[in-house]
Amino acid sequence: MLGGLEANEHEAFLGHLGGCADCQAEVAELTPVVRAIAAVRGRRRRRQRSEGRPPWSEDGLRTEPDDGGRELE
Ligand SMILES: [Zn+2]
Repeated sequence: MLGGLEANEHEAFLGHLGGCADCQAEVAELTPVVRAIAAVRGRRRRRQRSEGRPPWSEDGLRTEPDDGGRELE
């Protein structure tokens, strides 16, 4: 897949792509899928970075009884 290529492999592939109609057709088919995957991954990474914790722990904090404060007293 395009996202899995090393940088130099990617450049070599792009060079080959310029003269290969088969690969151009393949890339035209794959590009929307690759973009969708990258968008989902980017969204997850941004969400974790901004919140500092995975989404499920947020739900856990919300539903747990508020007795965590006892340890602080
Ligand atoms: Zn080709």
